[in-house]
Amino acid sequence: MSSRSGRRAALVACISCAGAYLQPAPARTATALKAGREPFIRIGHGYDIHRLDTRANAGQPIVVAGVRFDGSEGHAPDFELGCVAHSDGDVIYHSVVDAILGALTLPDIGCLFPDNDPRLKGADSSIFMEEAYKRMTDRGYRLGNCDVTLICQKPRVNVDAIGGGLVKERMIANVAELLRTEVGLVNVKARTHEKVDSVGEGRAIECHVVLTIEREE
Ligand SMILES: [Zn+2]
Repeated sequence: MSSRSGRRAALVACISCAGAYLQPAPARTATALKAGREPFIRIGHGYDIHRLDTRANAGQPIVVAGVRFDGSEGHAPDFELGCVAHSDGDVIYHSVVDAILGALTLPDIGCLFPDNDPRLKGADSSIFMEEAYKRMTDRGYRLGNCDVTLICQKPRVNVDAIGGGLVKERMIANVAELLRTEVGLVNVKARTHEKVDSVGEGRAIECHVVLTIEREE
């Protein structure tokens, strides 16, 4: 068993724990499928915010769309703050997952992956993306397009990655790879919060995602 399928097995067990939340959704899905009422295009919106703190207090670096701000090869330049989260706190992945779940009329990411589950401590959020992708394709959908707005005062995102290329391009490539789609269907926009409120004061990082999923022929 690969480590990825091992993580998938752990997640299935985790999802079972949240059965009380999940039971109504499959029944509704089955009804809609039987009646042939699945729309051709569905739209989803996702939002996430995470608090930033010193690297020591957070216990991990900031990770955004799989790109770590720790100065390692292939990732973003090192940044002094870390992301406070039960998992790795990837705001783009979490927002994309919530947008897909929203488009599918499923419970949100917090219901599927409880933040008090010890098995998810420090988890690589790509496993949530894999699960969202599986649920999307199981329902007969693929990604239409995905528009991400990342909002952070710090760290700077419009910079070169360590080893070449742009950090934003790596983020786009990671999202596209996990959703098995083309980079031309994924956009990552980044902006500041004009130095106001928690995000603008560098105490948090947040993200909005709007995406469409389209029914496979
Ligand atoms: Zn999150």
